[in-house]
Amino acid sequence: MTKKTKITIDYSRCGDGNGIDPRECCKCLQTCAPAVFLLHQTLGAEEPDPFDPKKWRVTPQWPSLCTLCMNCVKNCPVNAIEVKQ
Ligand code: SF4
Ligand code: SF4
Repeated sequence: MTKKTKITIDYSRCGDGNGIDPRECCKCLQTCAPAVFLLHQTLGAEEPDPFDPKKWRVTPQWPSLCTLCMNCVKNCPVNAIEVKQ
């Protein structure tokens, strides 16, 4: 059976220089036991600046590992995460 969990992050609320800086929050990364999320620099920058907050975001990289515990949704301070099956 294939899991079809869909996890989305609203980047107008977290990451890409909007709202929360994910490097300072990290709640979704800390509360997700199977480690679905990846904190990374945005790809495509010609001269990546590691200190520019516009170039950081969290991506639900491995949604098939999700156990639907909803810890990330409950702990995100700006309600940026949606988990649907
Ligand atoms: S619902 Fe639970 S397992 Fe799924 S991504 Fe969120 S914290 Fe991780
Ligand atoms: S918990 Fe929410 S605000 Fe915090 S890093 Fe994850 S998506 Fe961003």
